[in-house]
Amino acid sequence: MKNIFYCLTLIFLLFSCNKTRTTSKKQNDTPTNEFAIIIHGGAGTILKKNMTPEKEAAYKAKLEEAVRTGYEILKNGGSSGDAVVKTIQVMEESPLFNAGKGAVFTHEETNELDASFMDGKTLNAGAVAGVKDIKSPIEAARTVITNSDHVMLSGAGASQFAKEQGLEIVDPSYFYTENRFKSLQRIKDKQKTELDHDDKKAAFYDADIKNSKYGTVGCVALDKDGNITAGTSTGGMTNKRWGRIGDSPIIGSGTYANNKTCGVSSTGWGEYFIRTQVAYDISAQMEYQQKTLKEATKDVIQNKLTKLGGTGGVVALDKNGNMSFEFNTAGMYRASMNDKGDLVVKIYAD
Ligand code: ASP
Repeated sequence: MKNIFYCLTLIFLLFSCNKTRTTSKKQNDTPTNEFAIIIHGGAGTILKKNMTPEKEAAYKAKLEEAVRTGYEILKNGGSSGDAVVKTIQVMEESPLFNAGKGAVFTHEETNELDASFMDGKTLNAGAVAGVKDIKSPIEAARTVITNSDHVMLSGAGASQFAKEQGLEIVDPSYFYTENRFKSLQRIKDKQKTELDHDDKKAAFYDADIKNSKYGTVGCVALDKDGNITAGTSTGGMTNKRWGRIGDSPIIGSGTYANNKTCGVSSTGWGEYFIRTQVAYDISAQMEYQQKTLKEATKDVIQNKLTKLGGTGGVVALDKNGNMSFEFNTAGMYRASMNDKGDLVVKIYAD
């Protein structure tokens, strides 16, 4: 009798364990999209009242052009790696974004660019930091994976590598845009006034810059083979100095991809994104806590990053093609396309 009771208890326990597993499996493993792509063009205090209809239309058109570029590659069976590079290049070549042409200026009035790329299948990653003459930093980041033994190259060495690989090198003046140059002058003027009148130590980053749009670009894609790739490219933050490097070229902060979980690209105040390990933490919460993409991105941005005082956001995509835009700023330039061809292009918070 006792034995029968034990047997029944065991069967009951096995049954309930299996049910729990099925439920969490269902939550995380239902394919939503066979392939998908999600991008950002920076986050910050992007308010409708500060936008002209022309400017808004220009941003939306470029975001759409970029996301469609990657979508076509994925639809035709191309790799998520190709989709990420080609999509980001559209934004790197546009003066609208703080990446490639249109990069912000350093305190020394130069442009220093950072980028990173990660392959979720192999967990291979490549990055370049503080480069001044590589036309497409995202392409250089990818080439670090394929043609070097390293993960991150910086400054003159990274340029030397790019030259040897036959990547396009440009005169540093290629990155100049009047708007970005004026932004730097405004900050310098303000800092000077603060010093003259107040004798206060000028803030390293002006409050206007902390809160204005950041403009970094990023992309995460899932291809028909189930491979996730993420990439990020930036000019960093206006008035940066002393060779400052932000989160964008840091694997685990600015970019992360793992076929087991998700891919993430970040934008925002880099120092906080490094300290929070934003991109990897999202993946880790999914892997170790079985959180959904939405739950993980929400916790990292709205809870952890916000509590620390950081501002910005992420675009993320999981292995089943679920996508998430998450940010704690007034807006984030963003777009996505799923396997049905549904297009989302947005700027402000919903
Ligand atoms: N995260 C970038 C940095 O700190 C800036 C940005 O996202 O616009 O360099």
